[in-house]
Amino acid sequence: VKCPDTRWSWVEVNLSALRRNTQAFKRQLERGVQMMCVVKADAYGHGAIQCVKTMQQAGASQLAVATVEEGVALRQAGVQMPILILSEPPAECAGTLVEYDLMPSVYTADFALALGEAAAAADRVARYHLAIDTGMTRIGVRRQDVVELRRTIDFHRGLECAGTFTHFATADVLDDWDFALQLNRFNEAVAALRGAGLSTGLVHCDNTPGTVLHPECHYDMCRVGIGLYGLQPAETTVPRIELEPVMSVRGRVTRVVYPQVGDGVGYGMTYRVPKQNIQIATVPVGYADGLARELSNNMDVLVNGRRARQVGNICMDQFMLAVDVNSTRSYKPTGPVEVGDVVTLIGTDGDERITADEMAAQRRTINYEVVCDFGMRLQKIYT
Ligand code: PLP
Repeated sequence: VKCPDTRWSWVEVNLSALRRNTQAFKRQLERGVQMMCVVKADAYGHGAIQCVKTMQQAGASQLAVATVEEGVALRQAGVQMPILILSEPPAECAGTLVEYDLMPSVYTADFALALGEAAAAADRVARYHLAIDTGMTRIGVRRQDVVELRRTIDFHRGLECAGTFTHFATADVLDDWDFALQLNRFNEAVAALRGAGLSTGLVHCDNTPGTVLHPECHYDMCRVGIGLYGLQPAETTVPRIELEPVMSVRGRVTRVVYPQVGDGVGYGMTYRVPKQNIQIATVPVGYADGLARELSNNMDVLVNGRRARQVGNICMDQFMLAVDVNSTRSYKPTGPVEVGDVVTLIGTDGDERITADEMAAQRRTINYEVVCDFGMRLQKIYT
């Protein structure tokens, strides 16, 4: 395991696993269906600029981000693939969108006006995707207003509709009534646009679970996110495709002590050493690195191939773990640990493994949030 020398903690990003996952999704797509890789939130914490190259080599042809800044950063890094922004940015960004050739989602006449003016001022064509709200009640034009809005947008000559899309709220649930309703509404909206003689560009709606569970609506493109990073979308049961987790999170032990019985550990001393021969080891990963404080006294880590308990409140930059050197049960002993030993928060060590899903369950959240959080500050190593 490589360790960056600036700090004894890091995120490992396995680009080979990312490649295999991307290829696995590409194989799900019929000939001619494009793959848009969702790399928002710095590729779900994995580092967008580094991941994009691997995705492109594995067959992706388009990218999606959440913010204008994320799109500009990719352009400045030399990325030339089409980039969609998955919501409508502030109108003030219109000039930047045109300058960096970023495609916004559009669903209001006001934004279309701003984009049209920016395109005219730059004497360029601005491409956009029309977002339709089919039932998630988050973004998009209401389905009954689709044709009218598109006509309004077409009034601006410098705007070109490169895509028409919606997003499902329940694509991960099989035989779901809400999903069927959303798909039906989307199909009707697309048909209405076509019936009115309006171009749709690429029609797309499937995310990761949609791509796997609902191939009937792959249409022109699928927008795949979480699956690329080797994680199953929450709730998805069947059919699954083989995926490999891309992210591991590790640190090294920076200090080891054998405290007295009764000594407290960490802020508030929420853990007290219950007996002799307990080692308390410090690891430099904290909540500012994405290790949620609510996991305090409620998570395992791996050290020397075995599980150990995290103890005391997780600090901003560090946490402590306890190893009972003699115990048979309560601390799942790892044997004595030493300064420099590698501690795994997510990933494998020997025969043991801790997944983002395990940590997510402990936090009562989803694996998406766990990996996004670890993208915050830890140095990333690409293998
Ligand atoms: N499309 C849109 C509009 C999204 O907001 C997202 C992510 O939330 C995705 C696609 C990718 O979803 P997933 O990561 O579940 O594949």
